[in-house]
Amino acid sequence: TTALMAPPLGPLLDDIVRSHTPQRESGSVPATIPHLAAVPFNRFGIAVATTSGELFSSGDAHVPFSIQSISKVFTLAMALRGDGPGTLWSRVLREPSGTSFNSLVQLEVEHGIPRNPFINAGALVVTDHLMNETPDAATRLLRFLTEEAGSAGPFIDEDAAASELSSSSRNLALAHFLKDFGNLARPAESVVENYVRQCSIMMTCVELAKAGLFLARDGQGTHGPVVSRSEAKRIGSIMLTCGMYDAAGEFAYRVGLPGKSGVGGGILVIVPGECAICVWSPRLDAKGNSLAGTAALADLSDRTGWSVF
Ligand code: GLN
Repeated sequence: TTALMAPPLGPLLDDIVRSHTPQRESGSVPATIPHLAAVPFNRFGIAVATTSGELFSSGDAHVPFSIQSISKVFTLAMALRGDGPGTLWSRVLREPSGTSFNSLVQLEVEHGIPRNPFINAGALVVTDHLMNETPDAATRLLRFLTEEAGSAGPFIDEDAAASELSSSSRNLALAHFLKDFGNLARPAESVVENYVRQCSIMMTCVELAKAGLFLARDGQGTHGPVVSRSEAKRIGSIMLTCGMYDAAGEFAYRVGLPGKSGVGGGILVIVPGECAICVWSPRLDAKGNSLAGTAALADLSDRTGWSVF
């Protein structure tokens, strides 16, 4: 539902970059990944991949960044694709958490069943699920992303992974907690290691917009169906309700689109039937979502009329 008055996309993205590129240092860097603090604050990129096959981008759209929790969208899609009897949904719920992405509190109250697959506890269960098929689930994810992005660019930043692993006490605590409740098949350490490597994949806005396009296209990926139309709808629904952690309501209010953020400063957003959008700017708000990225997406959806509402 593109508003007819919307200006052409190329110049519009240039204008978004002009008005939202941070001019001075504000916001924070992720405390759990020392490596990411070195990324300059004034980076800003945006890319739009349309269902009609066009690609628009502006700013730092070709600069690789750490995808972090955006990986959770793709691991969920991969897990659902291979999940014939539906065992994944007996291990993780589909409710917004209202708590921070790495919170432990609800896990005890809910007897080791995480609230949703987009908080860390839920994503660890998804990774464990994928490891049933391939112990090196992170490399399998990398291959999937490389194919869908149609680019050999994506790679695992092993330094960033090591940096995060050296301060992963909280994720290890979550994994051990899951294990104690019988909701983790593999050793906690190996699940966290795979999870951290999956988060440390480096991609550009252009590559991520292309890789996410199947969600705007009823599940149809670059080389055929990734998930069914129903699964694409469901993944979008979970993005809308859970994709921004305890800021999901605020993001839905401001942007009106399903999105998934990562503490690398990226946000992937889906406009069903229209396009996939990826925006990146590294400094974060208190909830761990890109400050400038969120503001830019709110602006873009207002100016294009893109929204699921
Ligand atoms: N690797 C990060 C973590 O587990 C991902 C968090 C995020 O992007 N929100 O802490």
